[in-house]
Amino acid sequence: AEQNPLFDGAELAKATSDPAARAEALRREIEHHSYQYYALDAPTISDAAFDSLMRELREIEAAHPELVTASSPTQRVGGYVGEQFAPVVHERRMYSLDNAMDLDELDEWMERTAEACGGVLPPLCCELKIDGSSIALTYEDGVLVRAATRGDGTTGEDVTVNMRTVRDVPLRLREEARASIAPGVEALELRGEVYMPKKSFEALNAAAEEEGRAPFANPRNAAAGSLRQKDAAVTKMRDLSTFMYAIADDGALEVEGQWELLQWLRKAGFHVNPDVRLCTTAEEVRGFCRECLERRESLPYEIDGVVVKVNDFARQRAMGFTARAPRWAIAFKFPPEEKTTLLRDITVQV
Ligand code: NAD
Repeated sequence: AEQNPLFDGAELAKATSDPAARAEALRREIEHHSYQYYALDAPTISDAAFDSLMRELREIEAAHPELVTASSPTQRVGGYVGEQFAPVVHERRMYSLDNAMDLDELDEWMERTAEACGGVLPPLCCELKIDGSSIALTYEDGVLVRAATRGDGTTGEDVTVNMRTVRDVPLRLREEARASIAPGVEALELRGEVYMPKKSFEALNAAAEEEGRAPFANPRNAAAGSLRQKDAAVTKMRDLSTFMYAIADDGALEVEGQWELLQWLRKAGFHVNPDVRLCTTAEEVRGFCRECLERRESLPYEIDGVVVKVNDFARQRAMGFTARAPRWAIAFKFPPEEKTTLLRDITVQV
């Protein structure tokens, strides 16, 4: 595995009581790992280890707001735009998600959300958090014209040719779904996740091992790496799938909320994850999270949590976004799986 040249420095800085030095060391460390992860699709530490670096930086910045810089990883979406693909400037930014690391943090978010909505918890749409790579698909007059990665949230990579090879992506929207498109709207940008099923991931890594190539660290990196291939024929062989769950501009469709949007996406021909629940109480949301955690192993694809979204689009608009994530949604993260903690010791594909 590649040794991180910054690691010792960061460890050293930890020993100092100077929060500015520690924050700077953490930023360098996080930048290094973000590059490995997003640009090379080859992380060298576990997600849990990465998340704890982010968490520590966030805590220092919360205690010392004067240390927050515009370029701090806490202030932006953590992607990367390579030179291999044409850049796509997103008309509407693509965001990340804020995390709740346990049910208490999820409760706190629900309390804040209820407060922001006049003291009453609004209906919440709960979905699986698919562990793949974000994708934006643009349809003009109902026809797929562009596919872009999230990149840094402002600019992504044009992966249209590669996404056309993904079999569950409709090249044309189904006619019966067209009636709900708002008058005068010509282009629709739909968003979701492209992922690699567990079985395909295992087969891919088994083949890599046989051929003496380095394996991918996890299905998410395998999906991102397979999507960002120079040769679309390679992407085609990689068995990628999608789950779609969002629209860039909710005013472009005559739907009122997330639940209805999911029904529309299904009608339009997209692959939509069936495990969703519209909840009206905090207890229902917690129950859904527990159920999903229990079923995690049995699913044919990897999930790393549950995304809880304020259902109503008008309410979402009123709540808005921070620099990196919507205020109207939260990712309840599952505890890391044992195997991912060993990452530092294995060789990953570059
Ligand atoms: P994230 O993956 O935690 O959450 C945001 C993403 O979730 C969205 O962009 C979207 O693509 C996805 N998503 C999946 N299902 C969704 C649904 N139903 N609704 C809405 N969104 C859904 O955030 P991120 O910014 O993409 O990446 C951070 C993650 O990457 C962390 O888990 C971190 O540990 C990992 N990471 C690891 C390393 C490392 O070195 N190991 C480095 C960088 C990042």
